[in-house]
Amino acid sequence: RAKAAGRGRWATFDEAMREEAMRILDLEADLRRAINGEGFVAFYQPIVRLSDRRVVGHEALLRWQQAGGELLSPSSFIGVGENSSLIEEVDWLVYAQVADRIAHTQGGYISVNVSPRHFRDSAFADRLLRLLDKAKADPRRLRIEITEVALLEEAPRVLNMLKHLRGHGVLAQLDDFGTGFSALSYLHRFPIECLKIDQSFIAGLGSETRVESEAVVRAIQALAGSLGIHTVAEGIENVHQQRVVRELGCTLGQGYLYGRPLPELVSVIEEVETLAG
Ligand code: C2E
Ligand code: MG
Ligand code: MG
Ligand code: MG
Repeated sequence: RAKAAGRGRWATFDEAMREEAMRILDLEADLRRAINGEGFVAFYQPIVRLSDRRVVGHEALLRWQQAGGELLSPSSFIGVGENSSLIEEVDWLVYAQVADRIAHTQGGYISVNVSPRHFRDSAFADRLLRLLDKAKADPRRLRIEITEVALLEEAPRVLNMLKHLRGHGVLAQLDDFGTGFSALSYLHRFPIECLKIDQSFIAGLGSETRVESEAVVRAIQALAGSLGIHTVAEGIENVHQQRVVRELGCTLGQGYLYGRPLPELVSVIEEVETLAG
């Protein structure tokens, strides 16, 4: 009987695995169709200077438009893409759209997310520069957002790539800072223009973890100061968080308080809530 029950469990487990595998295959096929069609769109979220809320740039964020009009965020499909090379292909669609935007607009920078996978491709930097060149986009208006994982993986190669890009005006920012390994000892070796403080710490500023979150933001701020670089506070949703990050010395901010990701760039932030709040 025990054996039968055991077999039963395995059968259910197999079934679940099979379903999961099918789901992933379906999703991959959908992704593949979307890559060949026009399903992937870059949305843009404003980044503001905290002292006066002037828009200094935007972050390009991927959205997958479903036939029914629904928009999917990366979290619902990027896991699949990250494990195949699909995410790289999707990224190139985003970069092409961003290059076009840069060429056809004036003003601030647009930052794009670069998956660590790209750093395994030694031609990445040149391909990106060629794309900008072909689109007649000023490389100084493009920034790349990378995570700390990228710095740990093949550090010498990444260092060369970042230097190469920087030589052409493309600056690099460290995304989701504070959540990774924070390889502080060799951070100074990389040409990093700014640290984007992970939104979990900003969210924590108004909760029970207020003290800890403030301590983390303060520490990141001190680190940035010693490196001579600036910071972007991510995920600012209310004026309380805005006030705290300003007091702690963050230079730039991004979050729903200033605007959600939209298909268009914005030049002015409407008075959402009073600054004094
Ligand atoms: P990220 O680069 O850290 O981007 C910030 C995320 O925070 C975005 O989620 C943005 O919509 C969200 N966000 C912004 N302000 C607020 C706020 O005030 N409150 C809250 N709760 N969230 C806020 P999104 O667009 O879902 O993207 C999630 C992640 O997916 C990104 O995190 C990035 O790692 C990745 N991603 C997005 N677009 C691309 C892309 O084109 N290529 C690659 N490789 N990854 C991408
Ligand atoms: Mg980002
Ligand atoms: Mg981020
Ligand atoms: Mg994030």
